[in-house]
Amino acid sequence: MFCHDEVTGLRALIGIHDTTLGPALGGTRMWVYKDEASALRDVLRLSRGMTYKSAAAGLNLGGGKAVIIGDPKTMKNEMLFRSYGRFIQGLAGRYITAEDVGTSVRDMEWVRNETDYVVGISRALGGSGDPSPVTALGVHESIKASLKWRTGNESLEGKTISIQGVGHVGYHLVKSVTEAGARAVVADIDRDNLAAVVRDFERVEVVDPTAIYDVDADVFAPCALGAVINDETLPKLKVSIVCGSANNILAEDRHAQALADADILYAPDYVVNAGGLMNVANELGGYHPDRAIQQARGIYDTTLNIFQIARDEEVTTLRAANRLAERRIAGVGRIKESYVGQQPRRRRGARPVGERGGQ
Ligand code: NAD
Repeated sequence: MFCHDEVTGLRALIGIHDTTLGPALGGTRMWVYKDEASALRDVLRLSRGMTYKSAAAGLNLGGGKAVIIGDPKTMKNEMLFRSYGRFIQGLAGRYITAEDVGTSVRDMEWVRNETDYVVGISRALGGSGDPSPVTALGVHESIKASLKWRTGNESLEGKTISIQGVGHVGYHLVKSVTEAGARAVVADIDRDNLAAVVRDFERVEVVDPTAIYDVDADVFAPCALGAVINDETLPKLKVSIVCGSANNILAEDRHAQALADADILYAPDYVVNAGGLMNVANELGGYHPDRAIQQARGIYDTTLNIFQIARDEEVTTLRAANRLAERRIAGVGRIKESYVGQQPRRRRGARPVGERGGQ
């Protein structure tokens, strides 16, 4: 849907990719696009990504995303976001938004004045607050599952984990892996963030941002930027597992095969970092941190499941994750062909079903 409000200057695109599993949930990005065609391409690509992420995470959510065309530094105001909120309300729940690159919790609180279909609200207002600790928990679970698959033992005791980026997620990951007995070798371009992990945790070693790819470690956890696995970095890696929170870790899909060829186990990023989505989606059923934490622990089983599919079907782990998502959508889509009448239904937006028997 193209949203245009002349008075506030709002120009936004809402992309709904698939609603087989439930309402399309995905954040609103605000960005200076060079033209509408680039914004359209971005919203279609991002909304498709959300379909796969929710489906693989076992959530009852479809895939959607929105982009507001404009400069987040200069164009933000209450009326713009309230006007945008009214467009979302007009979709009557088919699309649920949240914050994303260029938007903040404050912006979503403006949106919330006009629509019920927004999540990612602050704890103070009954929302889920900062998702990073739950995201980090999901990464930790995925690291354990990867170690288990690789070595037969999921313990982090005595292992070395190299972590690129110790911001919101990275900080909590350094905490959990070092507490589990691992050594963390970290890099960041922000001195304050580095100082915080060195001050707060034991067994933390700092390396230069350019040296992080050369670290001899068991696991490389990218928690900063996308496209960090590429033709230049891949030959440098001295790890047996890549598993981190960053979105779009692979520069291109072909790097999933390149990692496999180098005998490096790749835990697909959108499966690994789904804890953040689980946390925010929990607001739909009334936020409860314990439920979000329990769902994020399920990422352990999902990761193992994907490795098994990859082995059985002789495909990359990325392809296996996509297949897991596609099969769940097709399966649920098929059972929905049965007519069940008009009886009222419980709201069950964020409750996970499927692969793991409804954990
Ligand atoms: P953040 O901005 O808090 O932290 C990122 C850190 O990476 C910062 O400390 C930054 O200085 C550092 N960094 C930037 N460039 C770097 C470089 N070249 N080398 C080393 N460090 C560098 O972000 P975050 O919320 O911790 O998210 C980290 C990644 O995880 C992002 O890719 C994000 O999209 C993804 N992610 C986050 C969540 C979440 O819950 N926060 C959920 C899903 C995915």
